[in-house]
Amino acid sequence: MKKALAVVALTLCSALSIANAQTLKVGTEATFAPFEFTDEKSNIIGFDVDVIKAIGQEVGLDVEVVNQPFDALIPGVLTSQLDAAIAGITITEERAKQVSFSDPYYKAGIDAIVRKADAQKYPTLDSLKKSRLCAQIGTTGADVANKISGNVGTYNTVVEAFMELKNKGCEAVLNDRPVNLYFLQTKNEKDFYEIPELYNGEEYGIVVSKQNKDVLEKINSGLKKIRENGTLAKIHEKWFNTKE
Ligand code: GLN
Repeated sequence: MKKALAVVALTLCSALSIANAQTLKVGTEATFAPFEFTDEKSNIIGFDVDVIKAIGQEVGLDVEVVNQPFDALIPGVLTSQLDAAIAGITITEERAKQVSFSDPYYKAGIDAIVRKADAQKYPTLDSLKKSRLCAQIGTTGADVANKISGNVGTYNTVVEAFMELKNKGCEAVLNDRPVNLYFLQTKNEKDFYEIPELYNGEEYGIVVSKQNKDVLEKINSGLKKIRENGTLAKIHEKWFNTKE
């Protein structure tokens, strides 16, 4: 009898906790490997996906990751269609006027990829100042391209920007260095060359609405925990083969 009661109580408890578990709807843009991309079964995977799920697990939030265009992520958070966004989003002053950022979770920066045949022609970022450049729309890569030459074609995804470079529609793609490197390594792209110069250092943060202080606090406390307990380093090692 006692046992039966305990089972009932346990079942009730878990049913209640499921009902109470808050689901965090998190937007991303899944063409930005290794941070977010899709596997052969169309599951969204990557560094960012592992980070936000590990944070959710620490603070008791279920996480649902949804795919959206990059330039729809901040508007999605502003209109409460998304609770948060994680997509290799650089913390910038401009964006921080509109939304809150979590503590930084990854150090990146912008650099350029050119066609290998042009490696001598474009030894530095400055040598691109009269060139047509390509970038993903709404990104810090596009901002840098505008500063370098002001002659910029923007695309919905960085994959399309790389295609345009290949087709000689532009002379260089300006984009986040870790994504550029991953692209060169995994796609075995012998036709491309990375100019060995970082335009600037940037840091990624998770975007939350300024109204949603509770979620921001939870995300920051989860992030702190996964940094301290080594989970973040493990995720880093999984996707980059290095601890940091
Ligand atoms: N880090 C860049 C930015 O925030 C690019 C992000 C992306 O394309 N997913 O603008």
